Amino acid sequence: MSITLEQVSKEYNNAAAVSDVTAHIDEGELFVLLGPSGSGKSTLLRAIAGLTPIDHGRIVLHGRDVTNLGARDREVGFVFQNYALFRHMTVADNVEFALRARRVRSAERRRRRAELLKLVALEGYENRLPSELSGGQQQRVALARALAHEPRVLLLDEPFGALDAKIRDELRRAIRDIQRAVGITTVLVTHDQEEAFSMADRIGVMDRGRLQEVGEPRTLYQQPGTRFVATFLGAANLVLGPYGYRDVQLGESYFEVDRWSNSLRTGDEAAVVVRPEDVSLAARREQLPVLAVGSARVVEVQFVGAIERVRLTADATATLASALQPGAATLGIEASRTARDVESFPLAVGDDVYFGFKRMHALPTPISSLRLVGTEQNSVAELGAMPLVKELSERMRIEPLRYQAGSEQPERVRGLPVIALDEEMNLSGVLEMLEKGARQVLALTAGGSQVQRMLIYVEPSSCGREAALAAAASLARHLTIDVGMLVRDEDGVDGAACYRDLLDLRNESLRLHGLDMRTEMFRGDAVAAIKERLVTSDEQTLLVIGLTSPERCNDLVDELRALLRSQPPAAILFVSGRDEQPAEAAPKAYAFAL
Ligand code: ADP
Repeated sequence: MSITLEQVSKEYNNAAAVSDVTAHIDEGELFVLLGPSGSGKSTLLRAIAGLTPIDHGRIVLHGRDVTNLGARDREVGFVFQNYALFRHMTVADNVEFALRARRVRSAERRRRRAELLKLVALEGYENRLPSELSGGQQQRVALARALAHEPRVLLLDEPFGALDAKIRDELRRAIRDIQRAVGITTVLVTHDQEEAFSMADRIGVMDRGRLQEVGEPRTLYQQPGTRFVATFLGAANLVLGPYGYRDVQLGESYFEVDRWSNSLRTGDEAAVVVRPEDVSLAARREQLPVLAVGSARVVEVQFVGAIERVRLTADATATLASALQPGAATLGIEASRTARDVESFPLAVGDDVYFGFKRMHALPTPISSLRLVGTEQNSVAELGAMPLVKELSERMRIEPLRYQAGSEQPERVRGLPVIALDEEMNLSGVLEMLEKGARQVLALTAGGSQVQRMLIYVEPSSCGREAALAAAASLARHLTIDVGMLVRDEDGVDGAACYRDLLDLRNESLRLHGLDMRTEMFRGDAVAAIKERLVTSDEQTLLVIGLTSPERCNDLVDELRALLRSQPPAAILFVSGRDEQPAEAAPKAYAFAL
C-alpha cells in the first residue's frame, strides 16, 4: 500500500474541514479526489503533504507513519493550481531547486534537469523565466520541479484550474502519460467530474469533509451508493418505487435490481438511479425494447451535437415518484438519444410517448424519504423546523404523514416516520409505527439541537445488525457526524478472535454501506453502557437502536425509556430487525405492550 489514511480529521474554527477519512491508495495508482468546492479536498491533500497538521488520525506513506513529520521529510512532490514557480528564477533553476536544497552535486543536477525537461517536453527552455512561458508550460515546469527529488508520492491540487479548455486537455494527457511512465503514486484534486473520469484509476468523492465513496470511474457512475454521488457524477433521473421481493416496482412494471440492493428489504422505498442514456422512448408500448414504466409527455427537445436531449413529464404515482422534488404531482424525466434514435423516431414538444429503462441501479439506502408524523399542521411544522430534520431535508424528500395514534391506518407506513417524543419519553408511538410495517422510526427529543455523533447499538442477532447498519449509514451519509458502534465484549471469548470480528464488522460496514465507524467494546449491561457514553460526552448524540426479537424488544424499550428520561440524546433511530416475508406469507405483526 502506498498511501494509507486512517480516520483523518481536521477542523478549522470548530468546523470540520475533513471528517474521519479512511482510504488506501495503491502503489502507482492515480487517485482523484473529486468534490464540490469546500468539500475538504485540498485540506486532505495538504495533510498528506505535511503542509497542514491534522487533529486526529494517521497518515502512512509506504509503510512509514508520517503523521508527525514535516513536508520535507515525507518524500512527496506537490503541484498547485497557481503555478507557484519562483518568478525570478529560470526554468532550469526552478527545476533544480529541490536538488540544490538537498545538496545534490551540479553534474548530477544538470543530468536530472535534462531528463525532467525531456519528460515534460520542454527541452531548450532552460533559460526562460516563468513570465516567458504559457500557463500550460508553466505547469509542466511545476511538474518537473515536483518530480526532481524523486518523490514517492505526487500530489496535484487542481493543476489545470487556471488553463483554457484546449491546453487543459493536452496537459491532462501529458500528466497521465508522465505519471504512467514514472509509475509514481499520485493524488489529484479536482471539482471537475470529466477531468476525474478521464484521468483516474479510482475516484474518491468528497462531500462536506467526508469521503463519501471510492471506486473505479465506471463503477461509481453506474452503481453509486448515494444520491449525492449519483447526481454529482452526471445527469441522473432519481425515482422512488416500492421494493418488493428482490425487485422494485416502477410504474406499471417490476424490475430486478442489481446486487447492491442487498441492503433493501421488502417494504422499503427504493431510490433508483437511471442515466438519461438508459431511458428508452417509443410511440407504442410494444415498440419499447424494455418493459414499459409508463407514459409521458415531451416538454423540451434540445439538439446538442452528437446527441439529442429530451425532457418529459409523467404523473407521479405511488409506484413512481421523483426522489428529488418533494411531494410533486408530476416528475421530470431526462432522456438522451443518439442520432440513430432520432432518425427512427423523431420527437416534438407535446408528443405523448411510452418510456422504459434499459438499465437502472437501486441505491443501497433503505431510507429514502422522511415522513413527519403529526396530528395537525402545527406539529408537523415544528418537526420540520428541528435541526436534524432540516439538515436531512437538504438531501431527502420530506412529506407530512397525518396520523392519529391508535387509529386504523389503511396504508402501510413507508419511508422513515419521524416523531417527536414528549417529556414522558413515551415510546408507544414508535412501536406502533414499527407494528404498522415501518422498517425504522426516528424519534426526536425536545430541543433536538444539531447532532454531532451517532452511537449504534444492535441487539445480538445477525439480521438485525445488517439492517441497523444499512439504516444508520443511510442517515450518516447525509450528516457530518462521527459514528461509533457499541459491541459487547463477551466473557471467555478469545481476545484475538474478538478483535478480528471487530475489524470484519468495520470492513463490512464500509464495503456494504459506505459507513466508516469506530467500534467500542463494553461489558455487561447494554443500556448501562449507552448511558455511560451519553453522560460522559457533551456532544449531541443520535442513538441508533437495532431491535430484534419482540420479547427482548419489550424489555429493552422499557430500560431505554428510563434512560431517555434521565439522559435524553438528541434523537433515536429505531431499526426493526424483522425481515418481512413476501406478502402471501406475511407474519403477524408483533404485539408490543408498554
Ligand atoms: P476544497 O479543496 O474541497 O474546495 P478545502 O479543503 O479548501 O475544500 O476547504 C474545506 C473547508 O475548510 C472549507 O469550508 C474551507 O473554508 C475551510 N478551510 C480550508 N482552509 C482553511 C484555513 N486555512 N482556515 C480556515 N478554514 C479553512
